[in-house]
Amino acid sequence: MLKYCCTLLLILATLSAKPQHPPVFDGIKTDTVALKLYDLDIKLVRYSYRMPNVNFLVIHDDEDTGVKAAFEYIQFSGGSIIDCQYGSVRNFRFSHRSSGFMTDPNSIYSYQGIVSALVKYENTDNDSVIDKLEDIGKKILEYYDGAKHGYFFTLHNNADGGFGINSYQEGEDLELTADSVHVNPEMDADDLVLVTDPALFRHLKVQNVNVILQSDRGPEDGSLSVYAMAHKIPYINVEVQHGHQQVHLELIEKAIKALFEVYPHLKQKKAAE
Ligand SMILES: [Zn+2]
Repeated sequence: MLKYCCTLLLILATLSAKPQHPPVFDGIKTDTVALKLYDLDIKLVRYSYRMPNVNFLVIHDDEDTGVKAAFEYIQFSGGSIIDCQYGSVRNFRFSHRSSGFMTDPNSIYSYQGIVSALVKYENTDNDSVIDKLEDIGKKILEYYDGAKHGYFFTLHNNADGGFGINSYQEGEDLELTADSVHVNPEMDADDLVLVTDPALFRHLKVQNVNVILQSDRGPEDGSLSVYAMAHKIPYINVEVQHGHQQVHLELIEKAIKALFEVYPHLKQKKAAE
């Protein structure tokens, strides 16, 4: 009996530890593209509500604070979210020809990035895995269609401490990936916005939020921000510490304000659709 209870508790603990996917509210539409990365099922789920307005993309499946904040946003203002779902973990984990593989879903938007990430996570060499990841990256890009929207708007979450706005300061790990950094010392250093467009940077700086302008001389790491910069599509990442849902929503609103101030035709385009 004790053993049974322990097993049951373990199952319950596992279930409750699993990040929740968004609560679907009345009137929301969902459509899904199902992808196969060998034995890993990847679902790209698009949730849309009312006017198209703003389109969000969540790449990492264990980062649900952003999904919840985006849901709150679209419930009042309309829009859509593409949520990549592959088991509520950060990295893709799959096996092929009896070898296990792991990589970061935010490294698959260039050949070079795919190869570097596969090396970083100590995978065995495999050309067909590289091709397959490249194909998955293209399908995510196609489904979101940043070129059509005129921007990429991604949402990420991070842990308390470690990575944050200060990682981009002089002498720190990510210094060379930043062109400019603005810090509001009153904000949590884990809550920030990263953009690839100088005008968006200036507008967010005026709103006094933690913001980074990505450098165009940073490493080709296969990330979506580097892809967007190379393709001259404005990119916004609103990233906060896990659980900071209210701050996430506020930063989303500030970033949208900046986006529509800098590119008013995007707002008109949305209204016309
Ligand atoms: Zn992330």
